[in-house]
Amino acid sequence: MIYICAMQIIDTHNHIYLPEFDADRDEAVSRAADAGVRKIMMPNIDSSSIEPMLTAEERYPGICLPMMALHPTSVRGNYRDELDAAEAALLNHKYYGIGETGIDLYWDKTFIKEQVISFRRHLELAEEHKLPVVIHARESLELIIDEIRAFGTGRVKGVFHAFPGNASDARRVTEMGFMIGIGGVVTFRNEKQSEAAIAAGVSNIVLETDAPYLAPVPFRGKRNEAVYLTYVIDKLSEILAISPVEVGDRTTDNAMRLFNL
Ligand SMILES: [Zn+2]
Repeated sequence: MIYICAMQIIDTHNHIYLPEFDADRDEAVSRAADAGVRKIMMPNIDSSSIEPMLTAEERYPGICLPMMALHPTSVRGNYRDELDAAEAALLNHKYYGIGETGIDLYWDKTFIKEQVISFRRHLELAEEHKLPVVIHARESLELIIDEIRAFGTGRVKGVFHAFPGNASDARRVTEMGFMIGIGGVVTFRNEKQSEAAIAAGVSNIVLETDAPYLAPVPFRGKRNEAVYLTYVIDKLSEILAISPVEVGDRTTDNAMRLFNL
């Protein structure tokens, strides 16, 4: 597969700093580079993941790029302190996005009120720092769309990571100026996500792994890593009826514009 070498790929969502990669992080980065992955964007989780994330940036400069936020599943009683830590970090270092933030009503609804407050604060931070927002919307797409509308469409741009919606949802969020993140899920015989990708169109799609999670077929259930984006690209090439190289190039252009790379 010669086209792989010419490919330009950006993984816009990869937690490569997590312990799942401690044994072979160097190899995972070089496997990705061999397949054409030029950048690996790293979404933060909470105050404890900042240091390992910045260590990964130091080890792979210009390749692994950090983002900053408090993950919605990490919003608990101490979320004010956690938000303070994220805000302080933003003043001390260059970050490429506000991520990942959002609302997760799948795992736990205990802190729904706090999750909403936290998401609103992240929208403000995205505007203040002129950064795109990386949104985790699990069982919460309507609520998130309402919050963005209330905040003001046009004040922020960003991506709905692991896009959970259907074709009409994809049209709604792209009309608001947002992109959709497509990863391994699209290979799961997932009609809904294929239709969402077609509705969004290649000019509104960025690629992502969400590594170590959500590995594509044929690695479903195993640890995910950036090199597996080639399987996502092949699937998108089939769905969108364009060549794999074009999927890589167009989604890379989108990511470079979105994250100002
Ligand atoms: Zn994630």
